[in-house]
Amino acid sequence: MADGASDVLVIGAGVIGLACAFRLAREGQRVLLIDRDAPGMGASFGNAGHIATEQIFPLASPTVIRSALGYLFDNESPLRIRREYALSILPWLLRFVWASRESAFDRGVRALSRLQQSASADLACLVDDAHASHLLKMHGHLVLVEKPESTDAAHKDVARLGSLGITADWISPSQVTEIAPDITAPIEGALKFTGTGHVNDPYALCIALHDAFLGVGGNIIRTEIVGIESTGDGFLAHAPAGEKYAARHLVLSCGAWSKPLAAKLGYPVPLDTERGYHVTLPGVIPRFTVPVASYERKVIMTPMSCGLRMTGTVEFGGLHLPPDPKRFALLTRHMHALAANIPTDNVTTWMGFRPSLPDHLPVLGRVPDGRNLYFAFGHQHLGLTLAGVTARIICAQIMGREPGIVLTPFAPDRF
Ligand SMILES: Cc1cc2nc3c(=O)[nH]c(=O)nc-3n(C[C@H](O)[C@H](O)[C@H](O)COP(=O)(O)OP(=O)(O)OC[C@H]3O[C@@H](n4cnc5c(N)ncnc54)[C@H](O)[C@@H]3O)c2cc1C
Repeated sequence: MADGASDVLVIGAGVIGLACAFRLAREGQRVLLIDRDAPGMGASFGNAGHIATEQIFPLASPTVIRSALGYLFDNESPLRIRREYALSILPWLLRFVWASRESAFDRGVRALSRLQQSASADLACLVDDAHASHLLKMHGHLVLVEKPESTDAAHKDVARLGSLGITADWISPSQVTEIAPDITAPIEGALKFTGTGHVNDPYALCIALHDAFLGVGGNIIRTEIVGIESTGDGFLAHAPAGEKYAARHLVLSCGAWSKPLAAKLGYPVPLDTERGYHVTLPGVIPRFTVPVASYERKVIMTPMSCGLRMTGTVEFGGLHLPPDPKRFALLTRHMHALAANIPTDNVTTWMGFRPSLPDHLPVLGRVPDGRNLYFAFGHQHLGLTLAGVTARIICAQIMGREPGIVLTPFAPDRF
């Protein structure tokens, strides 16, 4: 290994890369973190901030397949394909349909449940070690049920989650009013989850992790990585101007952009992106202190220190098409429909790229070919929630400890 080589090179400084880099540097590793952008400016910047430990059902499911055809080309639906991207996403969608078979779905639920089992504790520990506990609020969340015809399905979901150890109570409209007086939409009731939570501002969490990483001796460089070669005893990462960065271990955590680098390293994973949108009302402090989601609209409002944020939408449109302004307008309409007294005329907007594999499981852990190469990407809708457990697993593997979880369902060669 060349002089000046790092113990670990982490490529991608979203919440996943930052969490891994911080954990490793805290254990005394010489860690170099590289990102072409400022840290936390990818999907990790503008997410809903929801610590969604209740989400153990992969989106690739028989239920989604049943409703999908009605959804896909409807401009107002929560799930949508941009026409310009329809052909490109077709292979991914076929794999998604295959992963939605009852047997594959059940395997996915078991795999995701195992990750979720310690997700909250691992995140709390990570955030605490980064001196950022003030950002994490674990006070649960609500899911409003607006239509009478949805109540049966909602109750069934609760029963199924209950059988898997996740608890939610059905509460009445008047109880919702007590918890969230700003909710004005007529509702049938709501699911009140415990054990879940939110962060005050997902970007602030990234900054806290970045600062903590520097505080324990980590190094960060801003450049793109365009190629990686295996050198026998490690890796050499190439930047566009010819710089090379050597390291013994390499962690790939480039979120939705991980695909080309993974392919160069011998793993052509079918990664694509589910684009998601947010609107934020800066300065608005709503009269609810927990995230409030809608069962039917598939949106969530989170009270944050940067304002009230609503996020939603799964849009298949790849990494290059511009955002669709109609999606921002749709979110603003949803916000108004749910909380009519909150003024929505001053919104900021953002679109981000969820990194998603067709089976909705991340690619996670050391690669099976014995190299010191670790993948940590594809966390779809759950990257913030799973940042702590992901970092613990990657750190354990690099430090030669048992990660305490079977990682085969997350292997890069499972497709
Ligand atoms: C609208 C929306 C709402 C969401 N809500 C939630 C939620 O409530 N809870 C939750 O848990 N998750 C949520 N998510 C998902 C979560 O945001 C993502 O899973 C998570 O941010 C992924 O983190 P990451 O670090 O893998 O990727 P990113 O944050 O996208 O970071 C990847 C980084 O890699 C860098 N990079 C890429 N290619 C290169 C290269 N070649 N060289 C150098 N650097 C490179 C990029 O610049 C970027 O900084 C949401 C996502 C969206 C879009």
